[in-house]
Amino acid sequence: TAKSQGRNRIQLFSKEINIQNAKKIQLETQLQLAIERDEFVLHYQPVYQSNSNEIYGAEVLLRWNSQEFGLVSPMNFIPLAEETGLIVPIGEWVLRQACQQKKRWSDAGYSTMKIFINLSSRQLNHPNFISVLENILEETGCAPEELSLEVTESMMIKDIKYSATILEQLIELGINVSLDDFGTGHSSLSTLKLLPVQTLKIDKSFIDDISIDYKNSYIVKAIIEMAHSLSLHVVAEGVETAEQLSILNDLSVDYIQGFHLSKPITLEEIETLLELSCSR
Ligand code: C2E
Ligand code: MG
Ligand code: MG
Ligand code: MG
Repeated sequence: TAKSQGRNRIQLFSKEINIQNAKKIQLETQLQLAIERDEFVLHYQPVYQSNSNEIYGAEVLLRWNSQEFGLVSPMNFIPLAEETGLIVPIGEWVLRQACQQKKRWSDAGYSTMKIFINLSSRQLNHPNFISVLENILEETGCAPEELSLEVTESMMIKDIKYSATILEQLIELGINVSLDDFGTGHSSLSTLKLLPVQTLKIDKSFIDDISIDYKNSYIVKAIIEMAHSLSLHVVAEGVETAEQLSILNDLSVDYIQGFHLSKPITLEEIETLLELSCSR
């Protein structure tokens, strides 16, 4: 009968939820062990100067190669790490590793190259964040001017005044702040008004159909013009085609990041690329 079918469906549904929960708990257990098991690795996606082949910098992207699950996408483990608070030690690990690497690159002559590092909400809002960061800078000898820390609008809406004070402290340290995924938050313009940032990263969703949708290309044009009149730099994210690249060059975007130029690559791969293409 319809009634019993309904009940079966509910049972099936709650069974699925239980499976999902069990999976989540397994994932969380493994995530807790990942640092000590040395399962994390950093990949790097080059960010290019527009209108040239010069590498301006690289975004650090975390990869988890789990003993239990194999390669897990950040889309699957970053939200869980955020929810459980594990992102705090993980984020600290990322910062330390990336700063160590940046120092090695600077020593090898690539000092102008910028390194972009993603922050998370729990990390930015943690009371020790600034002091942890200062320690890492001192420990590694990484120059703050070579760092750009990426924040998103959604990370900061809970307490925008507090976020502003943290970003001001970052800027005082000499660190560059980038607003990641720009345009996807709830109030991008008021975020810009209230928060001190120096770089905008235009979200991939605006870049995707820039070549077929005039509306989107006008929006991107307006973002770039507004950013430039506020003395901000602009990165276009998720550039996948030559056509998108050429439109963005015409619109005078400053920097380009995307699969069309390079996917995120391993340390060895980016070092080869740097040797080939970077002026020291
Ligand atoms: P995000 O910061 O916006 O990073 C850009 C994402 O877009 C990366 O995905 C990158 O691989 C991908 N991407 C870049 N260019 C293209 C393109 O042309 N086409 C397509 N389809 N994708 C492109 P990934 O590495 O999977 O990272 C996803 C998200 O996970 C990141 O988005 C970021 O929010 C988060 N994440 C990654 N590493 C870290 C980290 O160390 N800490 C924190 N807190 N979050 C991180
Ligand atoms: Mg990012
Ligand atoms: Mg982004
Ligand atoms: Mg994103």
